[in-house]
Amino acid sequence: MRSVSGLSAERFEVVVIGGGLAGLATAAALGSQGCHPILVLESETVPGAHSSGKNAGLVRQAAEDPLTTQLCVRGAELIRQRQREFPDLFQPTGSLIFSDENHVPESSWTQVEHRLLREDEVRLRYPELQDWPGGQAYWTPKDGTVDVPKLLGSLMEQLVSSGGRAAFGAHAGRIKTLDSGEFQIEVRQGSSSDPVNGEVLCRQVVIANGAWAAEFSEVSGMPITLSVTNRGCLITDRGGFGDQSRPWVWADQAGWYLRQMRGGLMWSACEEEETSAGILDLSTDLESHWREKVQSSWGASVPSLKLLSAWVGQRTFCPDRRFLLGRDSRCDGWHWAVGLGGHGVTSALAVGEQVAGSVLGMETHKDWAWSADRFVSSSKSLS
Ligand SMILES: Cc1cc2nc3c(=O)[nH]c(=O)nc-3n(C[C@H](O)[C@H](O)[C@H](O)COP(=O)(O)OP(=O)(O)OC[C@H]3O[C@@H](n4cnc5c(N)ncnc54)[C@H](O)[C@@H]3O)c2cc1C
Repeated sequence: MRSVSGLSAERFEVVVIGGGLAGLATAAALGSQGCHPILVLESETVPGAHSSGKNAGLVRQAAEDPLTTQLCVRGAELIRQRQREFPDLFQPTGSLIFSDENHVPESSWTQVEHRLLREDEVRLRYPELQDWPGGQAYWTPKDGTVDVPKLLGSLMEQLVSSGGRAAFGAHAGRIKTLDSGEFQIEVRQGSSSDPVNGEVLCRQVVIANGAWAAEFSEVSGMPITLSVTNRGCLITDRGGFGDQSRPWVWADQAGWYLRQMRGGLMWSACEEEETSAGILDLSTDLESHWREKVQSSWGASVPSLKLLSAWVGQRTFCPDRRFLLGRDSRCDGWHWAVGLGGHGVTSALAVGEQVAGSVLGMETHKDWAWSADRFVSSSKSLS
């Protein structure tokens, strides 16, 4: 790790803006492929301080569209492989998803090993689902949960062991293109309101700063449109719930999910409230909203559960809700790793693989790449 003052006017092959899962997975994949020197700039003093540290850690392969599912299936495979080197990274709990075709289409399910469960099979796994009305229930044996701090740590280890570097407390500002074709990036120690401490130069830049990516890139003349939404998570005690080695459960239509934790249960009532980067409030009381939402399925199992902790995190979406990955045709050397919505944990390693490929000259699939059709906004050139 580096302090900002040690960076002034240094040259890098690639600078990655953002030290969450998207940025670190990209930087680690680049490092392992021999690309150097690499620098990650992260505003906060630790990796994954925002969305990447405020999620549920579910590895869910079946997504709302087949393209995202493709990355989630690959991401899950890479997490399972990484488990060999980092024990306890992944818990193969399997998952139960209550869903109809409006939420996860058949074209997603065909990519994921699964089977439909009968109602009695569901109730055998979760007798506490007292008021669940029944319906389609998918069992996905290769889903599970991931230890996110461990995943972030493994990426830092991979980055550093390949000679890459990360600077924390290093806020990237405006990016300019120089006559040489290189990028010059302002760096501040702290936040956007602090004075510029220096700048770094690079040939390629990867924008992986999550909820901040739209306002950040606009300043440098590379506008995109993103929406940022808030979602809550809660931890309760186990109440009358039995052992902890059960699959996580997600009810797409009813809008809640449950994950077993050591010593507790993690819940979300799947809020999706539009907001701005870094503004973490909800219009309703998180605990009351959650109790109301889950009551209709879990009935009498819920009132006795005691809330232990709760938090709000941000999910960031492109207008079409697909990720934005790889090179931008408006500017040579500019790459994206943003808009990971609610799938950035599962897909992180696959995102890293894709974006690293783009930096190394491979074509990005057109459905991930920037195009005027996907983003209705004017293109300006860098100055
Ligand atoms: C409540 C909740 C539950 C979720 N559960 C799951 C789940 O179970 N499974 C799943 O797959 N996904 C889940 N997600 C989604 C997942 O957490 C995100 O998709 C993922 O973390 C996004 O990672 P990121 O690196 O793009 O963003 P972030 O983790 O937010 O990283 C962006 C980083 O950029 C930094 N940054 C911003 N501006 C600058 C700048 N100018 N200079 C330097 N650094 C900057 C920020 O400090 C931040 O660290 C959940 C999300 C939420 C909110």
